[in-house]
Amino acid sequence: MDLAGRYPNLHVSRHPLVAHKLALLRDRATEPKLFRELVRELSWLLGYEAMADLTTQPITVETPLEPTAGAELEPKVGLVPVLRAGLGMVDAMLELMPSAEVWHIGLYRDERSLKPVEYYNKLPDAATVQVCLILDPMLATGGSSSATVDILKHWGAARIKQVSLIAAPEGVATLSAAHPDVDIHVAAVDRALNERGYIVPGLGDAGDRQFGTFAGPSSEPGHASGDEAAEVVRQLQRTLSGEE
Ligand code: URA
Repeated sequence: MDLAGRYPNLHVSRHPLVAHKLALLRDRATEPKLFRELVRELSWLLGYEAMADLTTQPITVETPLEPTAGAELEPKVGLVPVLRAGLGMVDAMLELMPSAEVWHIGLYRDERSLKPVEYYNKLPDAATVQVCLILDPMLATGGSSSATVDILKHWGAARIKQVSLIAAPEGVATLSAAHPDVDIHVAAVDRALNERGYIVPGLGDAGDRQFGTFAGPSSEPGHASGDEAAEVVRQLQRTLSGEE
């Protein structure tokens, strides 16, 4: 399936550094310290690519020798990390854009229904930025991302981009169907979701791997889970393959 041809809003990085770092990130032997460093480095590289089309306005700069033409970023940018895994992507983006505002949105995936549940949202009444970058390492079912975009559009954000490290085809399809205007920037699109809604081959649970919160076999990706989650995944896969 040629996803990039099907979804013009999908941008998969071709940068060799991204490919190299992603392989290290996937490795099950990579400890949380290195994992966090790689999330940060990949976020920097993907952020750089995702911001390539931001507009600038001309300014004049005084060098020590004479005035010259320069450029200034035009839109105000908001970073929207999806708690908790998106937190590891914020610092790199702030290095690129120190004046960006950071707005947290807390969503968790109900383990059974795989539906996003909002538990934290302190956005002010009106949008304070024009461009929002949603930061979430894993674009899995697309449910959390679509819900976050709904919230941000309702808030008044003029332009929204999703930056993720790995996407599942099902997630790309869901987000693109709901919001075709949202650009999706990723390091890779993997094969599929498994019956628990984990991306395979993926890298496991991006939150647990960053923060070292491994709670034992029941939280490990790939272990059996409820019928409801498996049915949600099958439904997404039927939609993706055009059966429904
Ligand atoms: N969230 C993760 O952390 N990993 C996945 O594979 C899917 C969702």
